[in-house]
Amino acid sequence: MTLHSNRIQLPRNMIENSMFEEEPDVVDLAKEPCLHPLEPDEVEYEPRSSRLLVRGLGEHEMDDDEQDYESSAKLLGMSFMNRSSGLRNSMSVYRQNPNGSCSVPSTRTMVVCTVVLVIAVSLIIYLLPKCTFTKEGCHKKNHTMELIYPLASNGKVFPWAKIRLPPDVVPLHYDLVLQPNLTTLKFAGSVKIVVNIIQVTQKIVLHSSGLNITKATITSAEVRETKPAEFLEYPLHDQIAVMAPEALLVGQNYTVSIEYSSNLSDTYYGFYKISYKDENSKQRWFAATQFEPLAARSAFPCFDEPAFKATFLIKIERDEKLSTLSNMPKKATTPVTDGIVQDEFFVSLKMSTYLVAFVVADLENITRETNGSLVSVYAIPQHVNQVGYALNTAVKLLEFYQKYFLMNYPLEKLDLVAIPDFQSGAMENWGLITFRETTLLFDSNTSSAMDKKLITAVIAHELAHQWFGNLVTMEWWNDLWLNEGFATLMEYFAMEEIFPELHSDEDFLNLIFKAMTKDSLNSSHPVSSAVQSSEQIEEMFDALSYIKGASLLLMLKQYLTKDVFQAGIEVYLRNHNYGSAQSDDLWDSMNEITNGTLDVKKLMKTWILHKGFPLVTVVRKGKIISVQQEKFLYHVETENWTSDASYLWHIPLTYITSSCNFTHCTNAYLLDQKSAVIELPEEVEWIKFNVDMNGYYVVHYAEDWKTLTDLLKNNHTALSPKDRANLINNIFRLSSLGKESLEKAFELIGYLKKESSTAPLTQALFQLSLIYSLLEKNSEQQLAARVMHRIEHLFGDKIDQQRWTDDGTLSERELRSTLLTFACTHNVRNCRTTATEMFEKWMKSNGTRSLPSDVMKAIFTAGAKSSDGWEFLLKMYCSSVSEAEKSKMIEALASTEDVRKMIWLMQNSLEGEVIRAQELSHIIATVSQSLPGYLLAWDFVKENWKKLTRKFHLGSYTIQNIISWSTSQFATKAHLLEVKSFFESKSEESSQLRYVKEAIETIQLNIQWMERNLAKLQELL
Ligand SMILES: [Zn+2]
Repeated sequence: MTLHSNRIQLPRNMIENSMFEEEPDVVDLAKEPCLHPLEPDEVEYEPRSSRLLVRGLGEHEMDDDEQDYESSAKLLGMSFMNRSSGLRNSMSVYRQNPNGSCSVPSTRTMVVCTVVLVIAVSLIIYLLPKCTFTKEGCHKKNHTMELIYPLASNGKVFPWAKIRLPPDVVPLHYDLVLQPNLTTLKFAGSVKIVVNIIQVTQKIVLHSSGLNITKATITSAEVRETKPAEFLEYPLHDQIAVMAPEALLVGQNYTVSIEYSSNLSDTYYGFYKISYKDENSKQRWFAATQFEPLAARSAFPCFDEPAFKATFLIKIERDEKLSTLSNMPKKATTPVTDGIVQDEFFVSLKMSTYLVAFVVADLENITRETNGSLVSVYAIPQHVNQVGYALNTAVKLLEFYQKYFLMNYPLEKLDLVAIPDFQSGAMENWGLITFRETTLLFDSNTSSAMDKKLITAVIAHELAHQWFGNLVTMEWWNDLWLNEGFATLMEYFAMEEIFPELHSDEDFLNLIFKAMTKDSLNSSHPVSSAVQSSEQIEEMFDALSYIKGASLLLMLKQYLTKDVFQAGIEVYLRNHNYGSAQSDDLWDSMNEITNGTLDVKKLMKTWILHKGFPLVTVVRKGKIISVQQEKFLYHVETENWTSDASYLWHIPLTYITSSCNFTHCTNAYLLDQKSAVIELPEEVEWIKFNVDMNGYYVVHYAEDWKTLTDLLKNNHTALSPKDRANLINNIFRLSSLGKESLEKAFELIGYLKKESSTAPLTQALFQLSLIYSLLEKNSEQQLAARVMHRIEHLFGDKIDQQRWTDDGTLSERELRSTLLTFACTHNVRNCRTTATEMFEKWMKSNGTRSLPSDVMKAIFTAGAKSSDGWEFLLKMYCSSVSEAEKSKMIEALASTEDVRKMIWLMQNSLEGEVIRAQELSHIIATVSQSLPGYLLAWDFVKENWKKLTRKFHLGSYTIQNIISWSTSQFATKAHLLEVKSFFESKSEESSQLRYVKEAIETIQLNIQWMERNLAKLQELL
């Protein structure tokens, strides 16, 4: 999956860029569209009250006595955690006296105690198994096992208590028939699952969520006899249990058949519906799926864990005027009834449930063949003229990957489909990749240089998944980084190889900076972390799995060399194809290639099993370079703060020196101790570590910062643009940590007037914007104005030099877009004047005049400042057929300074009618950036929390971003208290979420930053 990035500059403390979005409501497009009415694994996860202990039940049904026990307990109103402690607790309720007896009781207490004791003793006697008082006693088995089972929805005991499915039954094949109805917006389904029995059992436990199951049967492959089966449902774990009338035998295959129905979802998960308008403004419906991570179970009952791979035969009924797509090519179409046909697809390869996909819609496509596979790009008819770029790009990338992995793409077809409303950036379903429209459709009139890069990156990411993720899948979600880190690494690597003109490596650099910010908080997590609950699994889709995962692999790739790394990947793919893998399997494959010369597992374990990253301090004395590592961690004074400063990483250090500063003379040194000494062959004028920021660590140059500041001032091109950006990032990070002064950071960027490369300029602008933004939002307007003055001093000439065209290299175009959008947003130089003139001409032409795409957002932002301009832009937003244009318009609309308009936008996006809900997190991000909007955004989130978390899952990336954006500029104790108490007032689950902890820690850091730096800034500026 690709998370969806919104390209907005991050506020102070910068958690992570926003990437996802979400769901439509039933959009009633028949209405006037654009009226603007400013008017656990184990038992811990269970609610205690809903469970009871069944002693010795094992694989068997509850006996009558046990059921009676349960009803007695209910009648008495007791909450039984388990039989013994439950009784103990029930007793203690009545035991008011701390010495534990009914001593010195009142008469009333005496009576109560006596009654309770009698009841309790009777209960114990009544409930003990009948065998207790017999000569033989009880069978030992009944005493050794004490399992706690929950209650199924019908009140019976559900025979499984864990979140993970039992390992005793494995699926081999699914026959899935679906009958979606795009008029009633419901679907009926039937699934036949061939399972194999690993351990004798009488139950088959699998996943199902929100499905109305009407019938279940079990058929033995041997006897071919179908028997109706009882089924139990346990919604808290999304599980059902199909109970066999007799024991299911080891080694045998059985077919479980289930019939069910459901509504097409009005969220972005499962089999969901999307409303859109066709060329004739008529409302149409589109049905698509999004299963990763846990939603296949809401489209069909299944063993919804990634390691349960199976083959799938899918049949879908449709209106004969519509199309269906699924993972595999279509095998046959047969008529069902008048106007309804059924498409049957070929049996799939062995795959995980989260990769199954289907789409039912009115679609058009273009196709090209490459190396035996048909590549097609699909969109709704009015968008099919925008799919050409994606097709060319997909074909090139597919050819590249086949060569790189030395393994053909295994399917005969690969479809890429633009979905009109989609939460994430894209989803890599095997053979049927689904995309948000903005990440697939390229319109030469309205798509900017950055849009082109985004589309290329997302296609490169999803295509890499066809091997990494689809062919070899992580065994469980704790290792999600194996899928996502790898796809992210390959995304940038493939782009560098195939599209070097896009300079994607600089984007990756910026992403690493952002991931490190998140990872430097105490609330961070190791790349590979244990997860069980659905919220925990969804929270894994974050910058650490994606970006940190990718940068650790990049560091390894540099250290091992390209060829060794590639050979290791080949081994990994061959060893595990059509199967599942853990992190260790990847290291073992690499070790097969290094053959004892380097223990990759030992090295990489220090990185993936521990959160955070090292700070390497470098001290130079003549030829002797002392290096020392410690953990980089912002220190916040809280009760939960933990320090693990002694942790040791194995760091493949790289460095260049004044004697030789070209890539070919990059030196390497493995720092696997707390400190070490490197002796250079000769004395040097300067040394720069972490060449091109290919390593995941921060470097502190102690006394040498002055040397590097002078180097930038006198001869900045001695270092690469990425190295310059890296120095800027590191010194600002060190100043936040208190290791270096803000003054030194400002001195280092003093050379910027000479700078012309995009990476260092954007990094410096980003750092200064963070400071500006924090000051502005925290009643320090005067000081903020002085920061802006400094920005203007450093960047003013660059801003003036920009032309309002689409000329130049991609990197120049990108810089232009960044600088002019910044200048128009903050009213710097004469940006708004020029942009407003262009906007007005565009408005006069009724939007027919073409605008340069790279500066379109800057023009719209300036135009949206006036009320007429804003209204006109909204009208154009509603009629535009270019998603690239619409995304620039929505960000400009949200940048208004009129709070009523901000509220209207957020509200309407949440409702999903005029503005798709997929835009909401962008809107909140933009609103949060402005002074009039940042408090409003948080109020909106609080007031709509219930709706937001219903629409977007609690752990989803969308919610992670919404919280990050709406709280990350708070820097007062009052706000800290407010955010804390808001989440504490919600469920315990909410306050334990990682992003909530991150938001709180961020506010604490902001407070600390303000306390430390305000006085210094007064002096400095
Ligand atoms: Zn992905």
